Amino acid sequence: MESSVNIEFGLNLEVLPMSLLIRVKEIAYEEGIRRIALIGGAVRDSLLSKYHNHHWGGLKDVDLIVEGSATQLAEALQREFEASRISKLHIHKAYNTVEITIDGISIDLATARLEKYEVLAENPKVTPSSIEEDLARRDFTINSIAIDLSSLSLIDPNNGLTDLVEKKLNFIHNHSVEEDPTRIIRAARYSARLDFALSPDAIHQIKTTLKRWPWQWLHTTSPELAPSALGVRLRSETELLLTNEPWELALEYLQDWGALLLFDEGLQNDHRWQQRLLWASKLGVKPLTALIAGAEDSCALGNRLKLGEDQQRLLRDSLKLNTYLSSIKRTQDRLNWTASRWSNELEKPNWKPEAVLISICLGIENWEYLLRWWDVWRKIKPDISAHKLIEDGWDPGPKLGAELQRLREEMIDLEEE
Ligand code: ATP
Ligand code: MG
Repeated sequence: MESSVNIEFGLNLEVLPMSLLIRVKEIAYEEGIRRIALIGGAVRDSLLSKYHNHHWGGLKDVDLIVEGSATQLAEALQREFEASRISKLHIHKAYNTVEITIDGISIDLATARLEKYEVLAENPKVTPSSIEEDLARRDFTINSIAIDLSSLSLIDPNNGLTDLVEKKLNFIHNHSVEEDPTRIIRAARYSARLDFALSPDAIHQIKTTLKRWPWQWLHTTSPELAPSALGVRLRSETELLLTNEPWELALEYLQDWGALLLFDEGLQNDHRWQQRLLWASKLGVKPLTALIAGAEDSCALGNRLKLGEDQQRLLRDSLKLNTYLSSIKRTQDRLNWTASRWSNELEKPNWKPEAVLISICLGIENWEYLLRWWDVWRKIKPDISAHKLIEDGWDPGPKLGAELQRLREEMIDLEEE
């Protein structure tokens, strides 16, 4: 085959679970599947360890593609391997893909497929295809290098190996970004992680697509107008960027490319994300929530990215808190507020306490009081119980509640003396 490169050209097979993969290939053959190939990060990273002495960080997962049905293969694997060796099996019917864990190795099995994007950025329509056609629908040339498990040769129709040797990131075709804009986030992840440069063509594609894209929903309050599949994929790629990658560098790349516009204009123009995310990590705020908090319309963005309801609530509550805090900015006497007054102001409304943390991450005015409340004041309880007060002669009821509150306020203020 023209696109094949002999294995001697640089694979580091010792790092791959070859005996398991060869057994999977044999079972595939018994099922009438004629071709099966290893693809994705495992191939790329084993080549990187060979060509660039990249530290092999261990096998994360194994991506396999078959010309045939991945579901059928998974069912055969289930019959062939003892149940104790298989710890997970999840079949996704829509794309005929399977997640299966054998001997602790997580394997993604996919049916080779062609993708057609009838609505840009929505999920594509798929039809079964050859392995080479499947490689053409992938994101970057360096992620489209496969190893044929039968000949153990590279299948590399997009010249991924050349780009890998030159440390270059190239999209496979000119419509890559408009078909799936989350590939921009992936570009930032790989550039930052691998120290690869985006090719001038790739940067051009990102910039021109961002200019042309129909972004009108960004400026409306109707997040439901955005393609819903895009929201979910953007969220999961951004979460991976923020938790698994050198995020400072990756976000800097995105901002340089103008790509934070994928979220909204506010974030593209925001230069305080670094400080916000550092605070988030100190305070235990989820990094994606902290990032989104700096957007022009954080609630609409949280909704568009299909953030969990708890995180969306925090964004809404933090917004209310910020509005409240700017309304008291004009009240001069707030400068003389006692610790207990601050506590009452922060506890009276029905917002979630953690929303205060988001406002701290945003560095809003008076954040020092918020932090003190979070760390100290909110935890202070009166040193006498209701029970004891009743024993001392108090009647149960609102007056007793008010007394307990008074005692707590006294303690909070004592703490600050
Ligand atoms: P790693 O897991 O180390 O981040 P990976 O390359 O294995 O790297 P995965 O997210 O596991 O990345 O995806 C597996 C493969 O699926 C990729 O190598 C790529 O070929 C393909 N892929 C993933 N996401 C996309 C996408 N949005 N568009 C096109 N191809 C994709
Ligand atoms: Mg992977």
